[in-house]
Amino acid sequence: MKEPIDSTYLTVKKIFIDYLQQMKLRKTPERFAILREIYSTNSHFDIDSLYNQMKNNKYLVSRATLYNTMELLLDSGLVIKHQFGHNCSQYEKSYKFRQHDHFIDVEDNTVLEFCDPRILEIQKSIEEQFGVEITHHSLTFYGRKKVESEKLKDKSRDVDSSRLNT
Ligand SMILES: [Zn+2]
Repeated sequence: MKEPIDSTYLTVKKIFIDYLQQMKLRKTPERFAILREIYSTNSHFDIDSLYNQMKNNKYLVSRATLYNTMELLLDSGLVIKHQFGHNCSQYEKSYKFRQHDHFIDVEDNTVLEFCDPRILEIQKSIEEQFGVEITHHSLTFYGRKKVESEKLKDKSRDVDSSRLNT
């Protein structure tokens, strides 16, 4: 059952080793523990939640190490960073992860993911129009859940009846 995660982890570990070697950076056990934690997580996370998650798993790394390693993981393309709202940086693993965009519920900060091929079409047409190559994009919709249709009907009935009374 754990097999797919492990084989993906081995691949990303190899990519990270190559990256660290190329950048002449040290291959510390902390850096790999962080990578492993991220690739065993299936949702978006911020630095604090990752810090706590590792602490709960009895793996204590300093916040400084965490921040530093996240920069390396971003630079190596193994993690992507999203800016959801003003002060809300969220991260997620990116290797072999399907291309998707996000919807944020502003009431409770729920993050929904969607995948729409039309975005790729827009990307292609922008590339043709400007003669550029798009390397990545960022698209986030914000909103809230709609009031149930029953309530809406009640509301319109109220409006109608109040209009009748006047
Ligand atoms: Zn996502």
